[in-house]
Amino acid sequence: MDLKQLIRSVPDFPKPGILFYDITTLLRNPAGFADTIEQLASPYLDTGIDLVVGIESRGFILGGPVAQRLGAGFVPIRKPGKLPAPAVRESYALEYGTDSLEIHKDAIERGQRVLVVDDVLATGGTARAASLLVKGLGGELVGMAFLVELVFLDGRAKLPGEPIHSVLQY
Ligand code: AMP
Repeated sequence: MDLKQLIRSVPDFPKPGILFYDITTLLRNPAGFADTIEQLASPYLDTGIDLVVGIESRGFILGGPVAQRLGAGFVPIRKPGKLPAPAVRESYALEYGTDSLEIHKDAIERGQRVLVVDDVLATGGTARAASLLVKGLGGELVGMAFLVELVFLDGRAKLPGEPIHSVLQY
């Protein structure tokens, strides 16, 4: 299935010069959504993933079904101030701006095997922050899976040694 055909690219969103990869057109396609989840999860079948960590907000849409497919639990990484219980924070640079991310302090037990899921790997700042949060809680980062990798932004350079899987490359 050609998933690229189902992704809409929107020029100059959210600001001039950014080509935004809009996955809502893929998500509304039942076969496309199902194939996306299968391709994100397939490298990790039978690898003993305990938890899928999804990054707000499109990482939630993809990470939930991936967790179900792998028989794993789901943990959200959220924008600051959204999590109700004690949380730890990590700041990061975006392709367009800066932000912070948080995870509940008790969300991961030491040694649990974790897969991080998000929609797009761009500059890698978001993913790096997520990797630091997971490892900071003692999680074993088994993989980082993305639907789209913007190869020209070289996000992998910010994630040296991390096992990265991307379904589509641009
Ligand atoms: P980065 O920290 O630069 O790797 O940015 C990754 C995050 O920003 C992901 O959570 C994406 O959802 C979002 N993002 C960055 N660039 C784009 C883009 N060109 N199209 C869609 N989403 C993007």
